[in-house]
Order: sequence, then structure tokens, then C-alpha cells
Amino acid sequence: MTVVTRFAPSPTGRLHVGNIRTALHNALFARRHGGTFILRIDDTDPERSTDEFDLGIRDDLGWLGLTPDKVVRQSQRFDLYGREFDRLVEAGRVYACYETPEELELRRKVLLGRGLPPVYERKADDAPVPEGRPPHWRFRLDHDCPIEWRDLVRGPQRFDPKLLSDPVIRREDGSWLYLLPSVIDDIDLGITHVVRGEDHVSNSAAQLQMFAALGAQPPELAHEALLVAAEGKLSKRLGSIGVEEIRGLGLEPMALLSLLARLGTSQPVEALAGLDELAADFDFAHFGRAPAHFDLHDVELLNARLLHRLEFADVADRLPDGASERDWRLLRGNLERLSDFAGWFEVIAGDIAAPSLGGDDRALVGEAAAIAARLDWSNDPWHALADALKERTGQKGRALFHPLRLALTGRDSGPEMAGLLERMGKDRAVARLSAAANS
Ligand code: GLU
Repeated sequence: MTVVTRFAPSPTGRLHVGNIRTALHNALFARRHGGTFILRIDDTDPERSTDEFDLGIRDDLGWLGLTPDKVVRQSQRFDLYGREFDRLVEAGRVYACYETPEELELRRKVLLGRGLPPVYERKADDAPVPEGRPPHWRFRLDHDCPIEWRDLVRGPQRFDPKLLSDPVIRREDGSWLYLLPSVIDDIDLGITHVVRGEDHVSNSAAQLQMFAALGAQPPELAHEALLVAAEGKLSKRLGSIGVEEIRGLGLEPMALLSLLARLGTSQPVEALAGLDELAADFDFAHFGRAPAHFDLHDVELLNARLLHRLEFADVADRLPDGASERDWRLLRGNLERLSDFAGWFEVIAGDIAAPSLGGDDRALVGEAAAIAARLDWSNDPWHALADALKERTGQKGRALFHPLRLALTGRDSGPEMAGLLERMGKDRAVARLSAAANS
């Protein structure tokens, strides 16, 4: 069996971490099994769907590197839905209804008031048809056929169809609701695995009967526990964290994807550099059923870890002109964001503002400037400088190293000084030490 998955967002907003995770898992599962990953734009609702969001979603997926193998739009498939709908009407599995929303709401309240489940009550086949009112349409669930499946995440599932309302699948004006078109597409596109959030579990129950009514084998189903925002002051509404925000913070797509691939699973979260690595052991058996807590801070930590192991070739086109592989290796261990590189590149290859030092430190770096000016730079200038300065001033430890680091880099901490000093060169180093001595 060739695996075919789909990610099916409605273009009514941009992607947020919840649906990025769904997209990722669909993409990873297909990749792991050498299958196909389809993007299905669920734009059946013309009032809420926009082309701008459709493009925005594709853009978001592109930035994340989750480019689909194929894209379909539901709004271009209405003829197919119409044909299958006619078939189901003919077979008596779809029927016309005439209640107004107010009537339905009243009925619901009455049932609830009596302590009964608010399940839609079918009318008798010969019930009078109200004049001048166009029908909407419901799918007739087969009450004699219990609904069961083994969910890849949730395990065995069972629903009593008598406790479910026949779902509305088409409105008075002929427009489509989500349930039936989705099933028709899943059949037509040969979807083998439907992977989505557990908020769709009861939809799946009704949809399984639609697959059967259309004479098709249902796909495997995987319903994942939802993501929730981590507790704490800084936690934001999950729905507001999306590609734009992650991008705006200067974070790498793979930092976000590394977290979303493993969050809520029994596997450790690791910063992995590519989708193939994430896909290698992707398995629904690893997923737990408890809600997974998403914390933006974890993305930031993973971002730093990811940068520390990225190779020059992975980032070369995003580095300032003139940055070499050696520079990357020298500096990457100190980066939290890739944009931090530019500041460090100034330290080794550009200019820094002279820090202002206290009187004793000024004298020390003045001595250092004089020593540095006489040093042979080709042979470990840092240790030669530190040793000579120690000997001359009797200073050691932090009292020696901290003023030197500050004078030479303008910063309190950073990569090891030996590599920095060698790379920044003698002229630059001497000039900085002198400038700091006179600050
Ligand atoms: N458009 C639906 C949603 O975003 C798709 C659900 C599905 O994957 O079938 O909830």
C-alpha cells in the first residue's frame, strides 16, 4: 500500500502551531513510508474562505519546508460532490429537512430539559413538507450498524449511532458543509491515513458510515490529543502563535518542527536539522493521549541547539558577505538566533564600540596593547598575550581575562578568546586594546 496523507485546512486564517503540527505529522508519515502528502484547501465556505489565506497557508508551508506533493481545492470539485450527493439521495442515505434553526434550537432545549441527549429526531417519511421553504440535507446514519475503529493514537473506538444526530451535509442554498465533501475527496484522492486532532473524533464516527454508504473502504484514522498552551505568565493564546510570529522572532523552521514532531510523544525532543531525520522514527504508536503543552520558550532553546550543530552549507546563503566556514564554526556555539551571527562577525571582522573600563583595567589593557604589538600573530597569540601580561602585571584569572575580553570583543562573554583573537588579526586587536586603554 502506498501511503497517501492529506492536510486539510480551511483558508479562514493563517496556520497556527496546532495545525502546523497536523500538517507536519501528515508530511512526516508520508515521508517515512515513501508516500504522498496532499494539501487540500477546504474552501467550501465562500463567506469565510479567502484567496489571501489560501496563499498565506501555502506560503507558511513553504517556509516550513512542508511543501505538498499535490494541492487540491474543494471549491473546484463541486461537480464531483453533486454527483455523489445525488447517488446518496437516490439510495435514501441523504434526505431533505425543513426545520428552521429556531425550531431545532427549541427542540434541543426541550430534550435537554427532559434529561435526554439532544439528538436530532428524524421526521416520518410522509411528514408534510412546508410550503415555500427550501430543504437542507442530512446524512441518514444507519442505527443498526455500530461504529467501530481502531484509532492509531486512541486505540479501539466505539460509537452508538443512535446517540448521534444525522449530520447536516448541505445547506438550503446548495452550499456544502465539511463532512461529506471531505469523505468524497478522501475516496477520490486515495487517502490511506487521515491524521487530525481529536476534536474530529465524532465527525469520524459519522464519516465512517459515509465511506460505507459510498461503497469505499475507510482510511486508517489517527486522532491526536490537542496542544495546549503551557501555563505561565508568558503563555500566549496558542491560536496566535504561527509562522509569522516564529519567523518574526528570527527562529528557524526546524526548531519549531523539531518540537512539534515529538511533543506529546514518548520520545525525547531533539533539535534535528531536516525532515528526513524527523521522519525516520515517526510512529503514531509513540503518541500519548494527554494534551501536549506547547511552550514558545522550548522553540527558542531548540533553535540555539539547532544552530550549534548546523553546518556552514546549511546557512551560508544567510550569512554576511565574507563569512567563512571557519568563522561559522568559531561562532555558531554562541548563537541563539542566526541573526546574532552578524554582531559576532563585526567582532572578528569589523568594528566594535570601545567599552569604557575602570582605571586599573585601563592600565592593564594598555600593557596588553604594547605586548600585542610585538607578538608573532601566527602562533597562538592569545596564550602568548595572556602569559606575557600575567608575568608583567602579576594579574591572573578573571582580573586578567575579563578586561581583555571586554576590550577585545566589547562583550562579557562569548566564544573562546584564542579563536577570536587569531581571527580578528593583530591590527584590529592592538587598536581595540589601545582604544579601551584610553577610554
Ligand atoms: N477543514 C477541516 C478542519 O480544518 C479538515 C479536517 C480534516 O482533516 O478532515 O478542521
